[in-house]
Amino acid sequence: MLSEHSPLTVLKGVGPGVATRLASLHLHTLQDLLFHLPLRYQDRTRISPIAASRIGSDIQIEGEVLATELAYGRRRSLLCRLKDASGIISLRFFHFSAAQKNALSPGTRLRCYGEVRGGATGLELYHPEYQFLHAGQEHSLPQSLTPVYPSTEGMQQARLRKLILQTLDLPDTQLQVQDWIPESLRERLGFPPLMDAIRFLHRPPAGDGLTSTLQQLSLGQHPCQRRLAFEELLSHRLCLRRLRAQAEALHAPVMHYQGALQQALRAALPFSLTGAQERVCREIQADLGQGRPMLRLLQGDVGSGKTLVAAMAALQAVETGYQAAIMAPTEILAEQHYLNFSRWLEPLGLKVGWLSGKVKGRKRADQLQAIGDGTAQLVVGTHALFQEDVAFARLGLIIIDEQHRFGVHQRLALREKGASGEHIPHQLVMTATPIPRTLAMSAYADLDCSIIDELPPGRTPVSTLLISNSRRAEVIERIHRACRQGSQAYWVCTLIEESEALQCQAAEVTAQTLAAQLPDLRIGLIHGRMKPTEKTAVMDAFKQGELQLLVATTVIEVGVDVPNASLMVIENPERLGLAQLHQLRGRVGRGALASHCVMLYQSPLSQVSQERLSIMRDSNDGFLIAEKDLAIRGPGQVLGTQQTGLMSFRIADLSRDAGMLEPVRHAAERIQRDYPDRIDPLIRRWLGERELYGNV
Ligand code: ADP
Ligand code: MG
Repeated sequence: MLSEHSPLTVLKGVGPGVATRLASLHLHTLQDLLFHLPLRYQDRTRISPIAASRIGSDIQIEGEVLATELAYGRRRSLLCRLKDASGIISLRFFHFSAAQKNALSPGTRLRCYGEVRGGATGLELYHPEYQFLHAGQEHSLPQSLTPVYPSTEGMQQARLRKLILQTLDLPDTQLQVQDWIPESLRERLGFPPLMDAIRFLHRPPAGDGLTSTLQQLSLGQHPCQRRLAFEELLSHRLCLRRLRAQAEALHAPVMHYQGALQQALRAALPFSLTGAQERVCREIQADLGQGRPMLRLLQGDVGSGKTLVAAMAALQAVETGYQAAIMAPTEILAEQHYLNFSRWLEPLGLKVGWLSGKVKGRKRADQLQAIGDGTAQLVVGTHALFQEDVAFARLGLIIIDEQHRFGVHQRLALREKGASGEHIPHQLVMTATPIPRTLAMSAYADLDCSIIDELPPGRTPVSTLLISNSRRAEVIERIHRACRQGSQAYWVCTLIEESEALQCQAAEVTAQTLAAQLPDLRIGLIHGRMKPTEKTAVMDAFKQGELQLLVATTVIEVGVDVPNASLMVIENPERLGLAQLHQLRGRVGRGALASHCVMLYQSPLSQVSQERLSIMRDSNDGFLIAEKDLAIRGPGQVLGTQQTGLMSFRIADLSRDAGMLEPVRHAAERIQRDYPDRIDPLIRRWLGERELYGNV
């Protein structure tokens, strides 16, 4: 008897080798396979006339080979001209064999599937899939849309499809998959039953309305997809709520507020806290005084003064005899915190420890000693803080900066660190990525939220200009002038390509070109492929003013403080999300100088890009920008996981499905109340074993 938890080896054609490859896709059980949903679909249910080809869309055609020949362009290729009653198209192959060339002889009939491109000969299909049509033989067409699955090397689509169909075709008597959403709730929401949705998504039947079905599917708005997205969001929420409940059942150090150290720090500061900083400090103060672990998210725009709030929290821990650890995602950021904390806290007689990957040998041993015997009351560092051999004497508070680079997994790992027995440290997570409230509520359902919604007084807002790339020379001249007058500038390169290597290459080329055009400026380059030590050296040189212009990829460190930098050029800003643009722009406008950000766009801009960039030009308010971005992009990716590393979903999309968050919340409450035994299986289905047993 099978169950949804049976291993995949029960399927025909799955031996240990195949099972290993499936495991690398996180597919272990029959249920995993059923919930491995298509990324997209191909319509191979019909043959289209060649004349219906449109650049950018997939097409399936049949025709007769007119001629096949070698083409010598930038790259040698094999070009095959194919004709049907409506027109002619070229098939182009960059990898091919002599046998392949011979087989595609004139008069041969083919069926091809591929994406239409604009090529040297007009419309072309690059490397289409094709099959030979033999006279007198039946070549049937599929009766359903063809799913395309997330896959991996060595696991062909066709094979994955066959395994999934094999699982779907197991008789009910052999395999039953439970629908954990209560029926009354499901019906009220208008969702189809679970197995109907799954069957449909793996094998959407051809027939009337196929085009609109395909369109709905490609937007992720088909009721069957919504049904599953809902369930996935529900599982995430249940998981986060459970993590929270588990954490709340534990104990954390009680840190009664005394305030002497905080008063001393206030007295030493050349400014007073903003109202928003005060409010948030009070919220944290109250949390720390309770025996329950604080799990608080601190949101505040770039430059809103989160570091000081963190310092105040740390002082409360230190004053009651505990240590506080502050972790940043990169060496450069961590070092900056270290400098700030040392500057603020050492005059109060406190010792600030420092640990990063760079700290080695004797120095590292000293730091470990101070952390271990408690002489370092505060410890600042990178991930290195949470390595095996680091043992804190009395860790009471963990502060994490720039949360958006950490996901739920890391949050869990951290929570485990520093836990001893029933005790875990308090946790404060700081992020400068403003997230619209509804989204924050669900992405951080395990955290309480504090917001600093006010900037310290006396800042000159960055003024933002949109300038077309055709006026690049003017922009370069502007940099020249600013640097000659003693300012410093950033030049940020972006690329569409996912590849980091390409981004870095582009930045290198830009740096060289700018160096040639501006020979009297000292120009530096920083990108993600450099060693941490090289990066730090470049950043230091920029901070010291030795470099005047810094060319960077988008990895340029969030939170880096160079008050003398007052000009930033962002190339192709239309390629970035608004949140990211806002983050980047926050690198300037940190000093007294009036600052400028030039968004050097590639024209022509689409309507949407124009609207989005105008928002950037007109506002400096991170929250407003986030809300507007959400409104404009609608089904876009304000919270796109690529961008924020926040959460990864298989099918749900937090911004597209934002409207479901409220019903998801209700459903979660209902399940917690009436069907608590369904929580486990739901989490396991969507998040796997890791989260389920992720001890807090
Ligand atoms: P972020 O929230 O981006 O981390 P920081 O904590 O780095 O911001 O603060 C930005 C700058 O503002 C720092 O130089 C900090 O010393 C300064 N600052 C923080 N709070 C205030 C305040 N209340 N008044 C004036 N300046 C402040
Ligand atoms: Mg900061």
